[in-house]
Amino acid sequence: MVNFKGIFVKRVLTSNDACTQFQGISQTQMKKLPKWICQSTTFQFNGKFYKQIDSVAMGSPIAPLLADVIMNHVIDQALKKINVQNKPIVRWRYVGDIFVAFNDMNALDIFFDTLNSVHNNITFTKELECVDSLAFLDFLIGKTQSGIQTTTYRKPTHSGLYTHWTSFIPHHQKRNLVFGLLDRADEIASTYNAMHSEFMNIKSMLIRNECPKAYIDRCIMKYLNKKHETSVNSFTITPPMTTTINMRLPYRGEITYEVRREMQRRVHRYAIMPFQFRFVSYETNKVKKSFTYKDKQNHLRRSSVVYKLTCTCGSNYIGQTRRNLITRINEHKFDQRSEVCKHLLANPTHRFNFKQPEILGSIFGQKELHLLESLLIQQHQPNLNVDGSSIPLLL
Ligand SMILES: [Zn+2]
Repeated sequence: MVNFKGIFVKRVLTSNDACTQFQGISQTQMKKLPKWICQSTTFQFNGKFYKQIDSVAMGSPIAPLLADVIMNHVIDQALKKINVQNKPIVRWRYVGDIFVAFNDMNALDIFFDTLNSVHNNITFTKELECVDSLAFLDFLIGKTQSGIQTTTYRKPTHSGLYTHWTSFIPHHQKRNLVFGLLDRADEIASTYNAMHSEFMNIKSMLIRNECPKAYIDRCIMKYLNKKHETSVNSFTITPPMTTTINMRLPYRGEITYEVRREMQRRVHRYAIMPFQFRFVSYETNKVKKSFTYKDKQNHLRRSSVVYKLTCTCGSNYIGQTRRNLITRINEHKFDQRSEVCKHLLANPTHRFNFKQPEILGSIFGQKELHLLESLLIQQHQPNLNVDGSSIPLLL
């Protein structure tokens, strides 16, 4: 058994997909899009701008898809080049990790060398089985007399540090952590003994994170009962048709739950159609905010902001833009439809703070930006804004 790890780079493949149009985008345009995405990534480091010339940006939404396409292509090419007797007898892959089994070591070396010869920028490393076992992703795969056995694998560097029980997070996130660990252990373990031993392991790790022992025991009991119930009772009762509205609320401890209950109560009292809320809590004060590792963006390069321009006479204007702030500011300087430009033409000696516009707020999403702008206009009452708000406010 061998585990290969691949490091991949950009590569856009052509496909003969029968579909010619997708949401108004032609097949030719669609083929150009990944290439354009890969070749137009810029980033800032130590105050300088760079263009990424190789690889896909970390966190790019297209990266997992490209990685999958490329790995498929690389493996296909390697398999085409080798003889049937040297091909792996078992092959599993998850993105860049490949698990393969061969009948002899010679076949492994041939496959490994062929795989590494497919692309100059893709290099695989290999990990051979040790004492009849090999780690692959979260699995520890072992060879026994009766066949293959699996159990949960953790890297030697795994510290056992999970969310502390006293953390200021919604209750369900703590519960989900316990159930998530139990479920993973259960899914991976191939025998009852392996599952039991992993459950005990999880229990001791969670206790070290101050999770109450009785709570973990209750979760284990619930988990096993639920699993048993579903396996015996496979039929499910279909809930009545209701509309669900997703609602994001900041997490503020117990008060969050009170607000949720009150909203549900009022909705049930006044709603004509049956519907329910699905609440999602989010943290507004994340720890990572205290450890910024990225270069601070230039004031004028920011986007999705609400800004305030102030004149030397005291007149002011509030606006919003989803583009770079500097682009919008330049429009104010020269576009005669702009209220700021009109003010300057009427008063040639006046000056605006174009180099240092005040940023009042920043938010993603067009609707959200309009709402923020309207609220800030209402609050600041700038005299150069013709409209009281960009969207109607019921305040
Ligand atoms: Zn003025």
